[in-house]
Amino acid sequence: MRVVIVGAGFGGIAAAVELRRHGFTDVTIVEKAPDLGGTWFHNTYPGSACDVPSHLYSFSYAQRRDWSRLCSPQREIFDYLHQVAGELGVDRLIRTSDTVTACSWDDAACRWTVTTERGDVYESDAIVIATGQLHKPVIPRIEGAETFEGRTFHSAEWDHTYDLAGKRVAVVGTGASAVQFVPEIAGKVQKLKVFQRTGNWFLPRKNRTYPPAFKALVKWVPGIQAFRRKFMFQYCEALTMAIRHPRTFGRLIHLRSAAFMRWQLRDPELRRKVWPGYTFGCKRVLFSSYFLPALARPDVELVTEAIDGMTPAGIVTSDGRLHELDCVIWGTGFKGTEFMFPMEVTGAEGRDLRDAWAGGAHAHLGMTVPGFPSMFVMYGPNTNTSGGSIIFYHEAQACYIRQALQHVQRRGSGAIEVRAEVEAASDRELQSRFAGTAWTRCDSWYRDDAGRIVANWPGYMREYLEATRELDPAEYRFAEQQATVAV
Ligand code: NAP
Repeated sequence: MRVVIVGAGFGGIAAAVELRRHGFTDVTIVEKAPDLGGTWFHNTYPGSACDVPSHLYSFSYAQRRDWSRLCSPQREIFDYLHQVAGELGVDRLIRTSDTVTACSWDDAACRWTVTTERGDVYESDAIVIATGQLHKPVIPRIEGAETFEGRTFHSAEWDHTYDLAGKRVAVVGTGASAVQFVPEIAGKVQKLKVFQRTGNWFLPRKNRTYPPAFKALVKWVPGIQAFRRKFMFQYCEALTMAIRHPRTFGRLIHLRSAAFMRWQLRDPELRRKVWPGYTFGCKRVLFSSYFLPALARPDVELVTEAIDGMTPAGIVTSDGRLHELDCVIWGTGFKGTEFMFPMEVTGAEGRDLRDAWAGGAHAHLGMTVPGFPSMFVMYGPNTNTSGGSIIFYHEAQACYIRQALQHVQRRGSGAIEVRAEVEAASDRELQSRFAGTAWTRCDSWYRDDAGRIVANWPGYMREYLEATRELDPAEYRFAEQQATVAV
C-alpha cells in the first residue's frame, strides 16, 4: 500500500513512524520546508520554546532523560525530532522543499493523486494530511502598512539578519509567541512598544536550566522520568478541568492566576491595562514569569489603543498618536482554522473539501471526512489542546490511521471512508460538549468566521486516547477493490 504524508512536523513524523513499524514500507513524506520540523523549523524567534514540559511534549516511545530544562527551547525540540526521525528511519522518506498543491481522489482507480508545486506527481492508496493548524502566519491588514519605511516581519519568519539593537521596535500581539520573545528583546532594543488588543491570563513559569544534580537524578534513577511524565499529564488534565468547569474548579486556578498577576503587576495603571476582561481559559493561558515584568521596564511601553493605520514613520493609534518606529514585529498568530488550505483537496465524485467544510471544518475524531476515502488528517478539526500535549494526540491519531489501513489490507478493499451519519453524530456530540466551558466565553483563534469552535478538542487527553484507541469498522464503509489497484 502506498501512503503519502503531507508535512514533516511532529504529526507527519508520528504517522510515518507508526506506519513503518507496522510494515507499511511505501511511505513518502512531502514537506514544503527545506527540513523536517514543522513548527519547530519555522519558529526560531528569540526565546522560542514549548510551554508544555518536554517529558510530555515528546513521543512515548522516544523518551529522553537529558532535557536541559522543564520546557525545552526550539533548537532542542528540533534536534529531538531529527534524532527520532533518524533513529527510526523515517528521515529518508522525506522529500523536502516541495509544497503539495493538490490531492485528488480517482473514483475509478480508487487512488489519490498528489501534485506538488515542483510538478511532481505521487499516486497513493491513502493520504495523511499533517500540515497542522499553526503554519500560515496572519499579518493584519492595516491601512497604510505598505507605506511603512521600516522593517517588518512575523514571529514565525523571524529576520535574523536584522539587528534590533538600538532600534525603535513595535510588537503587535500578546499571544503565546509574543510573550516568549518580548522579554528576550526588551532591553536590547532602544525602545519597545507592545501593542495589545486583549490581555491574557498568566501562570508562573521560570523555566531555568536544570541543576546538574537534578539532571543526574532524572538520568540515572529509574522511574523518575516516567513519574514526572505522569505528573505532567495529570497537571495538564487539571488545566483542562479548569477550562471545562469555569464556575467551580476554574475559579480556583483563576484565583491562582490573578494572585500571580497582581504580584507581578505592582503598577496599578499597568495592571489595569493588562487585566483580561474574559473568563480564565477562554484563550490560551500563558505560562511566563518574565513577560509582565518586561512590560514594567522603563524602556518598554504597553499600548492598548487600537491601531488605526500606518505611515512611512510608524503606527498611528486611535488616540491620534504616531508611534515612530524602525521595525514592526507581527506576533499576530496563524490562520489556524484554515487547516490545509489553500491546498486543493478533491474527494469522491469530484467533491471539494472546501465545499464539504463550508459550514465549518469537521471530521470524525478530527481525522476522517465523509466523501474523502482513505484520507486522514493529523491535528485536524477539533484536536487542538489548550491544556495538554499535542504529541499525545499525534500518537493516538497515528495509531488510529494505521488501524484503518490495516482494515483495508485485511479486507482486500480499495479504500476506507467514514459513514456520513457517524461523522455527523460525532460532530454534534463533540460540539455539544463545549456548552458551559470557558472556550465559549470569548472570541479566539479556536473559532472560525461563523464563531464555531473548530480548533479544540472539548475534553481531556485521556478521553481522546480512549475514543481513538480502537477503530470501529462499523463506523466505516469499505470500497470494493479495483482491478487496477495494487494493495
Ligand atoms: P495568538 O495566540 O493567536 O496571538 C496573536 C496575538 O495577536 C493576540 O494577542 C491577538 O489579539 C493579536 N492580534 C491579532 N491580530 C491583531 C490585530 N489586527 N491588531 C492587534 N492585535 C492583533 O498567536 P501566537 O502567539 O503566535 O500563538 C498561536 C498559537 O501557537 C498559540 O495559541 C499556541 O497554541 C501556539 N504556541 C504555542 C507555544 C508553546 O509554547 N506551546 C508558543 C507559541 C505559540 P487578540 O487576543 O485580541 O486576538
